[in-house]
Amino acid sequence: MRNLIVVLGDQLSLSSVAFEGFDAAQDRIWMAEVPEESEHVPSTKMRTALFLSAMRHFAEALTSRGMPVDYLKLGTHPFASIEAALADALSRHRPDAVVMVEAGEWRLEQAIAKTCRAANVRLAVRDDLHFMASRAEFAEHAQGKQRLVMEAFYRKMRVKHEVLLDERGQPEGGQWNFDHDNRGAFGRNGPGMLPPPTSFAPDAITREVLADVETHFGDHYGSAERFDWPVTREQALVAMNDFMAFRLQDFGRFQDAMWTDEPFLYHGLLSSSLNLKLLDPREVIDAAVAQWRAGAVPLESVEGFVRQILGWREFMRGVYWWRMPDLADANALDHHQDLPGWYWTGEVGMNCMKQAIGQTLRTGYAHHIQRLMVTGNFALTFGVAPAQVHAWYLSVYVDAVEWVELPNTVGMSLFADGARFVTKPYAGGGAYINRMSNYCGGCRYKPGTRSGEGACPVTVMYWDFVARHERMLESNPRTVVMTRNLQRFSADERAAIRRTANDMRERPELL
Ligand code: FAD
Ligand code: SF4
Repeated sequence: MRNLIVVLGDQLSLSSVAFEGFDAAQDRIWMAEVPEESEHVPSTKMRTALFLSAMRHFAEALTSRGMPVDYLKLGTHPFASIEAALADALSRHRPDAVVMVEAGEWRLEQAIAKTCRAANVRLAVRDDLHFMASRAEFAEHAQGKQRLVMEAFYRKMRVKHEVLLDERGQPEGGQWNFDHDNRGAFGRNGPGMLPPPTSFAPDAITREVLADVETHFGDHYGSAERFDWPVTREQALVAMNDFMAFRLQDFGRFQDAMWTDEPFLYHGLLSSSLNLKLLDPREVIDAAVAQWRAGAVPLESVEGFVRQILGWREFMRGVYWWRMPDLADANALDHHQDLPGWYWTGEVGMNCMKQAIGQTLRTGYAHHIQRLMVTGNFALTFGVAPAQVHAWYLSVYVDAVEWVELPNTVGMSLFADGARFVTKPYAGGGAYINRMSNYCGGCRYKPGTRSGEGACPVTVMYWDFVARHERMLESNPRTVVMTRNLQRFSADERAAIRRTANDMRERPELL
């Protein structure tokens, strides 16, 4: 055998550079389902089901194109990990080389390199051309800098890829960023009739996967009963076109808004398809820009959407490889509290958490502000150890791959890498959640109560966080207002907040 082409579960693109020069007579594609990928963090049933179903569909697409695949299905082989399965494949096939595209996880990249070294087989790792900035290009951008700012990187990417620029090379609409137009909340009557996202009923392959997930991971959290995520490129394209036609219009305005029992609102729901590589970011950006050029959607929606993909998504990937492996252990705020057990069940009295966690465990999805300002904000202000929060986010979302999950969780949400690539801790109290959603109306707590009986845990923890990190927050112009507000409270009030926060930390199961 000439090349063994290793395809990982998030590398499901037929145009992947891994297949360049592929010759069916001399090469073989290799894919493996192994328990460790669902167990090194306790991956929920929905997340595991999506990865396995998309992998099996992809293997079928390759085979139908005459590309032979050595595919190891869960339960049909004895190997617990990628290393063990690959070591066996190398000893059986004795290829001249292993060829693969850059992995999405530092852990896997190391493991595969180690396995190839041990077998004395050459490993050829090719740049992942799915991304619009290469790892080398980002390293050059970061060179010599202590801190990185997403906005500067985003503008560079807009210019490099000529996205939303006018004929003079200036940003369309005269500004780079319409962020201030992206913070609308729904009025008292809520979002009204929402366009339902496309749903993809499980086919025979997915049904078999769902049965396998129950057999092998029946005790894992969450449910895959309502599985309807896109699992093929064709389905992902349908999902993309559906978003462009029906939800992009209001995406910008209501990007940060939340509403009871409305998990999807105007969001794209394209992250899992992008991260599995069923969709290419360029085609998604082009489709959104085309909608604006056709006059179908406002610029603020399209710019807001492009910023998430060409800005945040690429930036987070660059940051991940820039900061690994240290990022995985970062804990700048020295937080060590355990993650409350109800993160895994959704059985909690706080309505905002019940809503965000409940939909996460049912669907594998929550939108950005639910992740950042509901579950993430509480973990930050409660003082949870970053490694435990990271394990939770990597387990529960269908789009969770470490290159994007870790910097978002540890860096953006928990401020555990300090101000290296975010400008401030994203901390908020119940007032923020009350402004951006109707969750508080259905809650047993009152968002404005800061201590004592009936106090809102989000508000209590917010003020306690500000008090515990007062000096750090005071020294940052973007957060000094938080400490100024705290300094208006009497000593008695501050003591009452501290007492209530301590009680809550001691008995999180009562929340
Ligand atoms: P939309 O709201 O429609 O946004 C469009 C696209 O922009 C997304 O599909 C996504 O590809 C991209 N995007 C938006 N925000 C970000 C961001 N901050 N970083 C990277 N890409 C972004 N995203 C993941 O893809 N995987 C993760 O594991 C993940 N974990 C997160 C953990 C935390 C604590 C936080 C705060 C955010 C996380 N995100 C993650 C980013 C973001 O929340 C999701 O990309 C988004 O909610 C996916 O839903 P959507 O496709 O409907 O996105
Ligand atoms: Fe969340 Fe507090 Fe509002 Fe309840 S009152 S929903 S706990 S913010």
